[in-house]
Amino acid sequence: MNCWLRCLPLPSRCDMPLPVFSSHANVVTRLWLVALMLVLASVFPVSLFFMAGPRYSVAADGQVSGKQGDVLLVTVPVRDRPDRVEGRFLEQTLTFFPFKDHTYAGLLGLDMQDSPGRYELTIEVVYPQRTERRSLSVLVMKEKYPVQRLTLPSRMVDLDRKTLVRVETESKAVHKAFAGFVPHPLWKSRFLEPVQGEISGRFGSRRVINGQPRKPHSGEDIAAPEGTPVLAMNDGMVRLTADHFFSGKGVIVDHGLGLFSMYFHLSGVDVEHGQVVKKGQVLGKVGSTGRATGPHLHWGVRLNGARIDPYSLLDLTVDDRS
Ligand SMILES: [Zn+2]
Repeated sequence: MNCWLRCLPLPSRCDMPLPVFSSHANVVTRLWLVALMLVLASVFPVSLFFMAGPRYSVAADGQVSGKQGDVLLVTVPVRDRPDRVEGRFLEQTLTFFPFKDHTYAGLLGLDMQDSPGRYELTIEVVYPQRTERRSLSVLVMKEKYPVQRLTLPSRMVDLDRKTLVRVETESKAVHKAFAGFVPHPLWKSRFLEPVQGEISGRFGSRRVINGQPRKPHSGEDIAAPEGTPVLAMNDGMVRLTADHFFSGKGVIVDHGLGLFSMYFHLSGVDVEHGQVVKKGQVLGKVGSTGRATGPHLHWGVRLNGARIDPYSLLDLTVDDRS
């Protein structure tokens, strides 16, 4: 790992030390570094920006990597003002947005079950008279997920026919909520935790319920006393309020450009479908409705269909968005 390269976009939040120069400052070395940076910048015009902490890395060869469940902010330099900037990654379509002068940005979600390996992110910068195509190699690394064993009443696990029909209808309603979204980013600046507390069910846990393997856990369970206010992680629009068999009373918020947050097992919901909400606004209260063993918040995030770890959003900084 070439630390100076990795640290460059974010010196204040980097966990790796910047190189220290002596008083003589080894000017020649500095000049070489600057020259090398310029060469790399010209060779790799698509860059990963604002990555913080050990989750994210830009390798010395300019390639991008993240673990299963990570979110990455990708920036693309542009000339003039393009009609649109779009990316494709596996099954996802990413819409980029104006970020800073001559730069567009997009959020790339690595699904919790994307197979580890190298994939291509293709980006089209569409101008009125021409289209520029770029490509970035993305390395998805394996995350080690724990196994969580749960014991639940059999009526909550082995569903009767009537309940199965209910669950299927509710699942369709959730998919419908994800189908349309606000075509520009509503979120800004940093994301916040909706509730603070101990994690009682980790994102990605491989779940064994009553001895049977089930779907992995697609959110974070945060234990908190019943009635604790649940806050919107950022600005957005309420896309769904519901009382579902598995997720209980819940809210789904559309943050624009395919980013959604979910807040489940609430004891009560304080917002309505279609309502515009602000970051930190109370959406409801912690509860244990639906299939829950005690009061907690299930906090989930979808990004263009990818199930990502909500906590990976907290590492993003997008203060400079224009
Ligand atoms: Zn959960």
